[in-house]
Amino acid sequence: MRITRIVCLACRIPLRPERRMISSLGQHVVSEYPLVRVETDAGIDGVGEATVTAVWSGETVWGAQAVIERVFAPLLVGADPTDIGDIDRRMDAAAEGNWFAKSAIEMACWDILGKDAGKPVYDLLDGLVRPAEIACRFSMGAYPPERVRNTVPDLVARGFQTIKVKVGQSIERDVERVALVRELIGPDRAIVIDANCGYSPVDAIEAARRMEPYAVGLFEQPTPRDDYEGLAEVRRNVSMPVMADDMVFTFNHARECLRHEAVDIISIYPGKCGGIRKCRNIAALAAEHGVACSIGSNLEWDVATAAMCHLVVGTPNMQVERVPGDILGPAYHEVRIATNPLNITGPVVTTPDGPGLGVEVDWAVAEKHAIA
Ligand SMILES: [Mg+2]
Repeated sequence: MRITRIVCLACRIPLRPERRMISSLGQHVVSEYPLVRVETDAGIDGVGEATVTAVWSGETVWGAQAVIERVFAPLLVGADPTDIGDIDRRMDAAAEGNWFAKSAIEMACWDILGKDAGKPVYDLLDGLVRPAEIACRFSMGAYPPERVRNTVPDLVARGFQTIKVKVGQSIERDVERVALVRELIGPDRAIVIDANCGYSPVDAIEAARRMEPYAVGLFEQPTPRDDYEGLAEVRRNVSMPVMADDMVFTFNHARECLRHEAVDIISIYPGKCGGIRKCRNIAALAAEHGVACSIGSNLEWDVATAAMCHLVVGTPNMQVERVPGDILGPAYHEVRIATNPLNITGPVVTTPDGPGLGVEVDWAVAEKHAIA
C-alpha cells in the first residue's frame, strides 16, 4: 500500500464557556488544530489531528499545517503507511520536534492499518488489556473560590471520583483552592494537583507540605521542564507520588526522569510524544523501571482522543485504573468534528471498536470551522 496524498485542514472550535481552562500556562478558550487525511492507493483513508498549542509544544496551527504540507507530505507520498517505523524515521529525519504534527500523521497511519485489517487499533497493539470504558479524572482550572464552588458539586453529581486541580501560581491561593475542593467533595474522592511547571523546587515542597491535610494523591509536574534534579529533590521531600508530564516529550526525556529517580509516574499521550508507537516505547521503558504511565490531555477533539483511548486500552503499563488520566477533550468543546463522536458520559469515555481509530471526521463540519 502507498500513500497518494495528504490533506490538511486547519480548524477553529471554541471551548464551552464553563469548560475554559486556566492553568499556570495561561488560558485556553479556543482550540485551533489541523485535521489530516492520509489517502492511499488502496482506497483507504486515515484521519489524524494535531492538538497544537504554542504554550505547550511551541507548535501552532499555521506552523503544523506548513510542516505537514510542505515538509512531511512530499516525503511521505509513495511511502507505505503500514510501516509506521519507516513513517516515523522519514519525519524525524526531516524535522526536529513538531511532535503533535508528527502524531497527526502517525495516528492516521494506525487508522489505515486498522481499517486494512478490519480491526480496532487496540487489537494491533496488545489487544484489550483493560475495559474499553475508561474512567477519567476531571481537570479543573485554577479557578477562584466562587467558580470552584459553582463547578465542583456538579462534577460530584456527574460521578467524577478524581478531581485534578490546577495549581502553580501562588501557594496561598493554591492551598486555599485545594482545601475548598476537599471540603466540597468530602473524604472519599481523590484530589490530584498539576502545577504545569509553575513552582520552584522549594515552593513545590512547601506547597505539598501545606496541602498535606487535604490528602492530595498525586503531584503532577511541580517544577520546570529540563530540571530533572529539581524534580528528584521534590520527590525526595514530599509524601505524595510525583508525576512528570510537561517535561516528557521523548524517550530520552523519560529515560532522564528515570535515571534521576525523579518520578513515580510518567504522563504520556500520542500528541505530546509524537505518536502511538513512540508512547509505547516510553511505556515499555518505564515498565522496566517499575514506573507506571498515565495519560494527560491537551484538549483534543474526537480523532486524537480516539488515538489516546486505543493507546490506553491496548498498552499494559498505561495504568489508568491506578492513576486516572483525562481523555475528555471533546466534551470541553462547543462542536464535535466526527460523524460518529466518541461516547463520553460523565467521567467515562468509551474506546470505539470499529476498524482503525473508529472515528470518522465530518469534513463538512470541519470545513464550516476552517480557519480562513
Ligand atoms: Mg499535566
